[in-house]
Amino acid sequence: MAALLEVADLSAYYGPTKVLHGISFSLDEGGITTILGANGAGKTTTLRALCGMVRSVGQVTLGGEAITGLATESVAKRGVAHVPEGRGTFTRLSTEENLRLGAISRRDRDGVEADLERMYGYFPRLRERRQQQAGTLSGGEQQMLAIARALMLRPRLMLLDEPSFGLAPLIVQEMFRILRRINEEEKVSMLLVEQNAALALDLADTAYLLETGRVAMSGPAKEIVADEQVRRSYLGY
Ligand code: ATP
Repeated sequence: MAALLEVADLSAYYGPTKVLHGISFSLDEGGITTILGANGAGKTTTLRALCGMVRSVGQVTLGGEAITGLATESVAKRGVAHVPEGRGTFTRLSTEENLRLGAISRRDRDGVEADLERMYGYFPRLRERRQQQAGTLSGGEQQMLAIARALMLRPRLMLLDEPSFGLAPLIVQEMFRILRRINEEEKVSMLLVEQNAALALDLADTAYLLETGRVAMSGPAKEIVADEQVRRSYLGY
């Protein structure tokens, strides 16, 4: 399979503090890659570096084109959708207004209407709450809205930061089932940052383990899940 995203020797800084120390990884077209690691390992920073939100050096290519150091908007225009932790929906707008905003740069009106319907197909709760103010949705519903809104851009790659954060266990499982369907049906590749290592390794095909800003381990998710140290430190058995 061809690589969609290739990251080589990427370092990132907050002011003078270096928090990523030359990490390298890749993501296959259509694949799901997960980045695991303890609190503070640099997972969120990795996603933020890829979409131009923190100062970084290194080489990043998307479909063969260099995107290193591009501004957030330019990265988004090339088909990378970032779903940050904490969701970032427009709380005073309705569910449907949020979804339409996700497609604001598109001109294909019929395509947008069809995509809206598809999003409501993935997330029936959002259809039921289409007129409700986003700020009054439950945590799980807001997370679904953030993902659906990102999809309205028709991205090639989604950067998902902790989609399970703060959700009840049953909702988390539902969320991961939907993510798998979206990956298959929308042909969208995913880079997933997740604290819940068991779920992430179940969904992903490839995994990287970050420790204090460095890649400590990498490989097929099936192999990582079988690793003794990963089991002890991240899966708790
Ligand atoms: P978590 O799971 O806790 O979110 P993470 O692996 O996503 O952890 P990051 O948020 O990427 O970790 O943080 C990596 C390091 O960078 C941490 O040491 C953190 O304290 C530091 N850091 C994060 N954001 C900033 C910031 N805005 N300014 C300075 N340092 C920061």
